[in-house]
Amino acid sequence: MPHTFMGKVQFDADMLTNDDRFQWEQTVGATLNRIWESYTGRNVLEELGLSPKIVKIVPYYDTVKDPINATSQARNQRDSYYPERPLRSAVDGSLEPGAGVGTGRGSAVRLNYTPWRFPKALQPVVLLHEMVHSAEQQRGVIFNMTVHSACFDTVAEFDAIVVENIYRSEIGMELAKDHHRQYPMTGNRMLPQEGELGARLDSFRARMPHLTQALAQVRVGFNPLRPGNPAYATRAR
Ligand SMILES: [Zn+2]
Repeated sequence: MPHTFMGKVQFDADMLTNDDRFQWEQTVGATLNRIWESYTGRNVLEELGLSPKIVKIVPYYDTVKDPINATSQARNQRDSYYPERPLRSAVDGSLEPGAGVGTGRGSAVRLNYTPWRFPKALQPVVLLHEMVHSAEQQRGVIFNMTVHSACFDTVAEFDAIVVENIYRSEIGMELAKDHHRQYPMTGNRMLPQEGELGARLDSFRARMPHLTQALAQVRVGFNPLRPGNPAYATRAR
Protein backbone atom coordinates (compact mmCIF):
# COMPACT_ATOMS: atom_id res chain seq x y z
CA MET A 1 0.00 0.00 0.00
CA PRO A 2 1.42 3.38 -0.93
CA HIS A 3 1.59 6.12 1.71
CA THR A 4 0.20 9.54 0.91
CA PHE A 5 1.93 12.75 1.98
CA MET A 6 -0.60 15.51 2.81
CA GLY A 7 -2.76 14.28 -0.07
CA LYS A 8 -0.16 15.63 -2.55
CA VAL A 9 2.08 12.72 -3.53
CA GLN A 10 2.27 9.00 -2.89
CA PHE A 11 5.35 7.11 -1.79
CA ASP A 12 5.80 3.39 -1.84
CA ALA A 13 8.87 1.30 -0.94
CA ASP A 14 7.58 -1.09 -3.55
CA MET A 15 9.92 -4.09 -3.86
CA LEU A 16 12.07 -3.28 -0.82
CA THR A 17 11.68 -5.55 2.21
CA ASN A 18 12.18 -5.46 5.99
CA ASP A 19 14.74 -2.93 7.25
CA ASP A 20 15.32 -1.44 3.81
CA ARG A 21 11.61 -0.84 3.39
CA PHE A 22 11.23 0.72 6.83
CA GLN A 23 14.28 2.94 6.43
CA TRP A 24 13.30 4.12 2.93
CA GLU A 25 9.77 5.04 4.02
CA GLN A 26 10.99 6.81 7.16
CA THR A 27 13.60 8.83 5.29
CA VAL A 28 11.37 9.76 2.35
CA GLY A 29 8.61 10.85 4.77
CA ALA A 30 11.12 12.96 6.73
CA THR A 31 12.51 14.46 3.52
CA LEU A 32 9.00 15.40 2.34
CA ASN A 33 8.46 17.06 5.74
CA ARG A 34 11.63 19.14 5.29
CA ILE A 35 10.39 20.22 1.84
CA TRP A 36 6.91 21.01 3.18
CA GLU A 37 8.43 23.28 5.85
CA SER A 38 9.76 25.67 3.18
CA TYR A 39 7.61 28.11 1.18
CA THR A 40 9.19 26.99 -2.09
CA GLY A 41 8.74 23.30 -1.36
CA ARG A 42 5.18 23.70 -0.12
CA ASN A 43 4.23 25.46 -3.36
CA VAL A 44 5.66 22.60 -5.42
CA LEU A 45 3.88 19.95 -3.33
CA GLU A 46 0.60 21.91 -3.53
CA GLU A 47 1.03 22.01 -7.31
CA LEU A 48 1.45 18.22 -7.47
CA GLY A 49 -1.72 17.78 -5.42
CA LEU A 50 -3.81 19.90 -7.81
CA SER A 51 -3.50 17.49 -10.74
CA PRO A 52 -5.65 14.34 -11.04
CA LYS A 53 -2.51 12.55 -12.33
CA ILE A 54 -0.78 10.73 -9.47
CA VAL A 55 2.92 11.19 -8.68
CA LYS A 56 4.31 8.15 -6.87
CA ILE A 57 7.80 8.21 -5.34
CA VAL A 58 9.48 4.79 -5.48
CA PRO A 59 13.04 3.59 -4.80
CA TYR A 60 15.68 4.21 -7.46
CA TYR A 61 16.82 0.75 -8.61
CA ASP A 62 19.18 1.34 -11.51
CA THR A 63 22.43 0.74 -9.66
CA VAL A 64 24.70 -0.42 -12.46
CA LYS A 65 24.34 2.15 -15.21
CA ASP A 66 23.98 5.28 -13.13
CA PRO A 67 24.51 4.71 -9.44
CA ILE A 68 23.90 8.24 -8.18
CA ASN A 69 20.80 9.68 -9.74
CA ALA A 70 17.09 10.27 -9.37
CA THR A 71 14.57 10.47 -12.19
CA SER A 72 11.00 11.56 -12.85
CA GLN A 73 9.49 9.05 -15.25
CA ALA A 74 6.18 9.73 -17.01
CA ARG A 75 3.97 6.65 -17.33
CA ASN A 76 3.11 7.91 -20.81
CA GLN A 77 5.87 9.93 -22.45
CA ARG A 78 3.78 11.46 -25.23
CA ASP A 79 1.03 12.55 -22.83
CA SER A 80 3.60 14.18 -20.52
CA TYR A 81 5.10 16.20 -23.38
CA TYR A 82 4.26 19.62 -24.78
CA PRO A 83 1.55 19.26 -27.46
CA GLU A 84 2.53 18.88 -31.12
CA ARG A 85 6.29 18.95 -30.47
CA PRO A 86 8.47 15.96 -31.39
CA LEU A 87 9.79 14.11 -28.35
CA ARG A 88 13.38 14.83 -27.37
CA SER A 89 15.80 13.13 -25.02
CA ALA A 90 15.63 14.31 -21.40
CA VAL A 91 19.41 13.85 -21.21
CA ASP A 92 20.63 16.10 -24.01
CA GLY A 93 17.61 17.36 -25.94
CA SER A 94 18.37 15.31 -29.06
CA LEU A 95 15.42 14.21 -31.20
CA GLU A 96 14.11 10.72 -30.49
CA PRO A 97 13.31 9.26 -33.90
CA GLY A 98 10.04 7.37 -34.03
CA ALA A 99 8.92 8.56 -30.58
CA GLY A 100 6.18 10.75 -32.04
CA VAL A 101 4.91 14.11 -30.82
CA GLY A 102 3.54 15.25 -27.47
CA THR A 103 -0.21 15.22 -26.79
CA GLY A 104 -0.19 17.55 -23.76
CA ARG A 105 -2.82 15.38 -22.06
CA GLY A 106 -0.67 14.94 -18.94
CA SER A 107 0.59 11.72 -17.40
CA ALA A 108 0.91 9.95 -14.07
CA VAL A 109 4.53 9.81 -12.89
CA ARG A 110 6.91 7.46 -11.10
CA LEU A 111 9.58 9.43 -9.32
CA ASN A 112 12.59 7.17 -8.76
CA TYR A 113 14.49 8.30 -5.69
CA THR A 114 16.52 6.77 -2.87
CA PRO A 115 17.53 9.42 -0.34
CA TRP A 116 20.77 7.90 0.99
CA ARG A 117 22.39 7.99 -2.43
CA PHE A 118 22.89 11.71 -1.69
CA PRO A 119 24.49 13.68 1.15
CA LYS A 120 21.90 14.55 3.79
CA ALA A 121 21.82 18.27 2.98
CA LEU A 122 21.11 17.52 -0.69
CA GLN A 123 18.34 14.95 -0.12
CA PRO A 124 15.43 17.44 -0.14
CA VAL A 125 17.04 19.50 -2.94
CA VAL A 126 17.23 16.49 -5.26
CA LEU A 127 13.67 15.41 -4.50
CA LEU A 128 12.32 18.93 -5.02
CA HIS A 129 14.15 19.19 -8.36
CA GLU A 130 12.59 15.94 -9.58
CA MET A 131 9.14 17.04 -8.38
CA VAL A 132 9.33 20.07 -10.70
CA HIS A 133 9.81 17.65 -13.62
CA SER A 134 6.87 15.60 -12.28
CA ALA A 135 4.61 18.67 -12.13
CA GLU A 136 5.35 19.47 -15.78
CA GLN A 137 4.74 15.84 -16.80
CA GLN A 138 1.39 15.77 -14.94
CA ARG A 139 0.28 18.77 -16.99
CA GLY A 140 1.68 17.65 -20.31
CA VAL A 141 4.06 20.60 -20.67
CA ILE A 142 7.51 19.08 -20.19
CA PHE A 143 9.75 20.25 -23.03
CA ASN A 144 13.27 18.97 -23.71
CA MET A 145 14.45 21.45 -26.32
CA THR A 146 18.19 22.01 -25.99
CA VAL A 147 19.45 24.98 -23.99
CA HIS A 148 23.05 25.38 -25.11
CA SER A 149 24.08 28.32 -22.97
CA ALA A 150 25.61 27.63 -19.61
CA CYS A 151 25.23 23.82 -19.58
CA PHE A 152 21.54 23.54 -18.74
CA ASP A 153 21.05 20.76 -21.33
CA THR A 154 17.29 21.20 -21.78
CA VAL A 155 14.38 23.56 -21.11
CA ALA A 156 13.05 21.09 -18.51
CA GLU A 157 16.36 21.24 -16.62
CA PHE A 158 16.41 25.03 -16.74
CA ASP A 159 12.88 25.14 -15.26
CA ALA A 160 13.75 22.68 -12.50
CA ILE A 161 16.97 24.52 -11.61
CA VAL A 162 15.12 27.87 -11.37
CA VAL A 163 12.91 26.34 -8.66
CA GLU A 164 15.82 24.46 -7.10
CA ASN A 165 17.74 27.73 -6.79
CA ILE A 166 14.80 29.56 -5.18
CA TYR A 167 14.68 26.71 -2.66
CA ARG A 168 18.47 26.78 -2.15
CA SER A 169 18.23 30.53 -1.54
CA GLU A 170 15.43 29.99 0.98
CA ILE A 171 17.37 27.40 3.00
CA GLY A 172 20.72 29.21 2.72
CA MET A 173 22.55 26.86 0.34
CA GLU A 174 24.89 27.82 -2.49
CA LEU A 175 23.02 28.22 -5.81
CA ALA A 176 23.47 25.72 -8.65
CA LYS A 177 24.94 27.32 -11.75
CA ASP A 178 23.88 24.69 -14.26
CA HIS A 179 22.83 21.07 -14.65
CA HIS A 180 26.35 19.74 -14.18
CA ARG A 181 26.97 21.43 -10.86
CA GLN A 182 30.41 22.55 -11.95
CA TYR A 183 30.42 25.98 -10.42
CA PRO A 184 28.35 27.93 -7.96
CA MET A 185 26.49 30.71 -9.71
CA THR A 186 27.90 34.19 -9.38
CA GLY A 187 25.71 37.26 -9.70
CA ASN A 188 22.01 37.03 -10.44
CA ARG A 189 21.88 35.61 -13.95
CA MET A 190 21.33 31.94 -14.67
CA LEU A 191 22.07 32.66 -18.37
CA PRO A 192 24.65 35.19 -19.60
CA GLN A 193 22.32 37.04 -22.03
CA GLU A 194 19.48 38.90 -20.37
CA GLY A 195 17.26 38.51 -23.46
CA GLU A 196 17.61 34.74 -23.50
CA LEU A 197 17.12 34.56 -19.74
CA GLY A 198 13.90 36.57 -20.03
CA ALA A 199 12.64 34.37 -22.86
CA ARG A 200 13.39 31.16 -20.96
CA LEU A 201 11.63 32.45 -17.84
CA ASP A 202 8.63 33.60 -19.93
CA SER A 203 8.41 30.10 -21.45
CA PHE A 204 8.40 28.55 -17.95
CA ARG A 205 5.70 31.02 -16.84
CA ALA A 206 3.58 30.27 -19.93
CA ARG A 207 3.73 26.48 -19.46
CA MET A 208 3.35 26.47 -15.66
CA PRO A 209 1.28 29.59 -14.84
CA HIS A 210 -0.09 28.49 -11.46
CA LEU A 211 3.22 27.26 -10.01
CA THR A 212 5.26 30.23 -11.25
CA GLN A 213 2.70 32.73 -9.90
CA ALA A 214 2.73 30.98 -6.52
CA LEU A 215 6.55 30.99 -6.47
CA ALA A 216 6.61 34.69 -7.39
CA GLN A 217 5.25 35.32 -3.87
CA VAL A 218 8.27 33.71 -2.18
CA ARG A 219 10.46 36.40 -0.60
CA VAL A 220 14.04 35.13 -0.75
CA GLY A 221 17.34 36.62 -1.92
CA PHE A 222 17.33 34.84 -5.30
CA ASN A 223 13.98 34.56 -7.06
CA PRO A 224 13.95 35.11 -10.87
CA LEU A 225 10.13 34.72 -10.87
CA ARG A 226 9.49 37.54 -8.41
CA PRO A 227 9.06 41.04 -9.88
CA GLY A 228 11.44 43.45 -8.15
CA ASN A 229 13.89 40.72 -7.16
CA PRO A 230 17.44 41.42 -8.47
CA ALA A 231 17.30 38.10 -10.38
CA TYR A 232 13.94 38.85 -12.09
CA ALA A 233 13.87 38.85 -15.89
CA THR A 234 11.20 38.88 -18.60
CA ARG A 235 10.99 39.70 -22.31
CA ALA A 236 7.28 40.52 -22.13
CA ARG A 237 6.89 44.28 -21.90
ZN1 LIG B 1 16.50 17.34 -13.76
